[in-house]
Amino acid sequence: MAYQLNVLKYYALALDPIHVGTGGMRLGRVDLSIVREPGTNIPKIPGTSLAGAARAYAAMQVSGKFPGCAGQGGHCGQPDCPICVTFGFSKGSGISFQGLAQFSDARLIFFPVHSLAGPVWVTCPHVLEELSVTTTAPADNQVHVASGVQQSGKLNLGWLMLDVAGNNFAPQVTHVPQEILNRSVLVSNKMFGHIVNDNLEVRTSVSIDPQTGAAAEGALFTYEALPRACVLYFEVVISDPKFYQINGQQPLNTGGKQQVIDTVREGLTLFEFLGVGGMNTRGMGRLRVLNPNAGGTP
Ligand SMILES: [Zn+2]
Repeated sequence: MAYQLNVLKYYALALDPIHVGTGGMRLGRVDLSIVREPGTNIPKIPGTSLAGAARAYAAMQVSGKFPGCAGQGGHCGQPDCPICVTFGFSKGSGISFQGLAQFSDARLIFFPVHSLAGPVWVTCPHVLEELSVTTTAPADNQVHVASGVQQSGKLNLGWLMLDVAGNNFAPQVTHVPQEILNRSVLVSNKMFGHIVNDNLEVRTSVSIDPQTGAAAEGALFTYEALPRACVLYFEVVISDPKFYQINGQQPLNTGGKQQVIDTVREGLTLFEFLGVGGMNTRGMGRLRVLNPNAGGTP
């Protein structure tokens, strides 16, 4: 009986701007900044945010599990609870369980930027490598464009003008809409981070005073977000319940590993309606998982 992990690979398309905040205020040019990858400084959605939203939405679909097992008011911690087994639990007196679905961070793989040729989606060799797609990196002042990008030797990405060094870029990435692949642009790893950070959505908003229903005094603030139409990639590692014990019992005795996978899928399918991250009441956060059946069809 070999220990076997399933690594489920998910692709997702932002239907709204997505704001997953750092919790810090006033860091640089915006009041509410989003989470970034250390080292590359590229924004991401932390796995904990994905897992938290998936947990809540999966719990809503199982009778008696919301809000307790969603994390609001105490996990049941029962070995037959698909929510607590899939996403983990902690109960008083030091009893806790890690959860059999582990979510990675969601990384940007195609990032929309406006250009004279209309919207294009920028990517780089480093992110494609993770998807087992190998490419030749252009120089920092150059791009390789896909066939759907009309250009005449130069292409601007936002304010940045670059030379077109090739026009047969054709990344083979499953589940990503062909319209996006046809309008994709390869830039160097170094330029990718700059272009992403220069083209994030920044919005200005005001806090509403709940007493009066009007704008609160001095409450104008700015926040940044991943723009609508960016494409992200994340993985969920599924462990098999037969190798674990909760209260001396094998968890999900009747459902097994497939029940863990099904619970993840049920949570992910609500991302496109209920969203991830903050500012959901301001029209933010909806994220369509493009292949919710990565772990097999129900
Ligand atoms: Zn539970």
